[in-house]
Amino acid sequence: MAVDRPWIPKRVLVTPSALGFAHGAAMVERAAAAGAEIVRLPADRLAGLPDTYRDAKSTMAVVVASPSRRRPQPIPPSADWRFDLAEGCPAHCQYCYLAGSLTGPPIIRAYANLPEILAELTPLVGQGTITSRSPARAAEGTTFECSCYTDPLGIEHLTGSLSACISHFGTWQLPAETPVQLRFTTKFDAVEPLLGLPHHGRTRVRFSLNSRSGERYEGGAPRMTRRLAALRAMAEAGYPIGLTIAPILPLIGWRGEYDRLLADVAEALDGVAVPDLTVELITHRFTDKSKSVLVGWYPGTDLPLDEAARTRKVTKFGTGKWVLPRAEMTAMRGVITEALAHRLPRAHVLYWT
Ligand code: SF4
Repeated sequence: MAVDRPWIPKRVLVTPSALGFAHGAAMVERAAAAGAEIVRLPADRLAGLPDTYRDAKSTMAVVVASPSRRRPQPIPPSADWRFDLAEGCPAHCQYCYLAGSLTGPPIIRAYANLPEILAELTPLVGQGTITSRSPARAAEGTTFECSCYTDPLGIEHLTGSLSACISHFGTWQLPAETPVQLRFTTKFDAVEPLLGLPHHGRTRVRFSLNSRSGERYEGGAPRMTRRLAALRAMAEAGYPIGLTIAPILPLIGWRGEYDRLLADVAEALDGVAVPDLTVELITHRFTDKSKSVLVGWYPGTDLPLDEAARTRKVTKFGTGKWVLPRAEMTAMRGVITEALAHRLPRAHVLYWT
């Protein structure tokens, strides 16, 4: 079911070290004010984690990101570097990509040591190997993605981390020849606190959108119409914007459905001066591990997860993933990119994967 209210965890676990950071203490204060039960752990090890999906999804832990967790990593094809403000997400998407990348109960871990996390980024300015080396994207500067393991806007009313990050990037004193860009993707719509921040065009927000028939798999996330209104608001506030159309699914009537989505985007942006609209197109894929986790979380799902209808692709890490067959992929790519050229002629497609 879609939501129109901010997510409030039932329980917030907080470690002693996390409380030692003003940013962590502020998160706990906000959660308590919102009505969450606060559990102060006696030690920094997370203990007493819930073992059911339902309980885990209503639990947030405020912790300190260890040195290994706060070390940025290259993240092709999206950005030069990935860094994390949190892990886990309050939504309930039946295709959630986190099912294949995170382990353990799906609680949210929000990081209290934001100053340490941001300090890791400084030596990486000018050091990108992904978008920085792409002739088509090098003008974006060194790109930093902060939504790989969470939806940072979905928890922003509790963490404040995204706003702090946007302001940090916007006011970062850097020589003109070393531009930077913060990037995040979201399915949420509570953008009001971001509108007046000193972003200085250095943050690109991409809204994660799908066809109306794909929307039924996105429990706990705001409806597409609300995301489109948020897209418009961010564009009006001067943010570079983008669309992450994902996961592209060959559901019945997909041709008309994706065309309709793009028509909805064009209507949402009607009359707004958008100098720079990017589009990222990501087809649905799953792994043996993510399928087994997702079927455990959503036993009644009718999400297309039939291996017989897919092609197995071996990644550079030697693991396999089930992607759309080549012919279907080619057909979808042709139809959707053509619809994009028709509905949003000024949009700049960054990649199809
Ligand atoms: Fe997963 Fe993204 Fe959905 Fe959150 S919004 S449940 S991270 S797919």
